[in-house]
Amino acid sequence: MPYLGIDPASGPRRPSAFAVLDDQGRLHDLGLVRDDDDILALASRWRPRYLAIDAPLSLPEGMCCLEESCPCAPASPDGLKAAERALLKEGIGLFRTTKRSIIKAMVYRAIGLRRALEERGYAVMEVYPYASKVRLFGRPVPKKTTKAGWHWLRERLERLVPGLSEHEGRLGHDELDAIVAAYTAYLRGQGQAEAVGDPQEGVIYVPKASRQR
Ligand SMILES: [Zn+2]
Repeated sequence: MPYLGIDPASGPRRPSAFAVLDDQGRLHDLGLVRDDDDILALASRWRPRYLAIDAPLSLPEGMCCLEESCPCAPASPDGLKAAERALLKEGIGLFRTTKRSIIKAMVYRAIGLRRALEERGYAVMEVYPYASKVRLFGRPVPKKTTKAGWHWLRERLERLVPGLSEHEGRLGHDELDAIVAAYTAYLRGQGQAEAVGDPQEGVIYVPKASRQR
């Protein structure tokens, strides 16, 4: 069974990148899709063992939404999800899932997408490619949108994921992040990933720390 990684677009007008790794961890397909229906179609086409999404897929315990007008409030004093707290403690910066989130629309979209996929029986997992990169390659992780950052990641992924060069020309930085997401799903399939956070609330999968090189 393959592994599917999705890097959902931050805006409705931008396409989302996806990557498919086969059961040996080889890059099988990648590209861009337009909307959630396309992502559901991808899932039904590939029937992945795990489908990794690079976006918050749950809210902090105690919260039903991200609206200031709603009285819901996080159960923890710092207002963070346990998974976010664990990564921040590791020095891994992230967008906090709070009512002041600047990626609110994306959080809602991703949670809706997770529900739609789970209703159809897919095993969805939250990933955070930046955290995966820190765990896999160490620091510093250069900014992915720069040319140097792109080369840095391309070179490192080449060593981990066979078949990259067969997709030359389609390896934009969003696609590379989708590959990192799919690779994290592959590692989970190999027992080489760990879930950080609280399973009741929602965990984030990252490569096991022992894999850092
Ligand atoms: Zn609420």
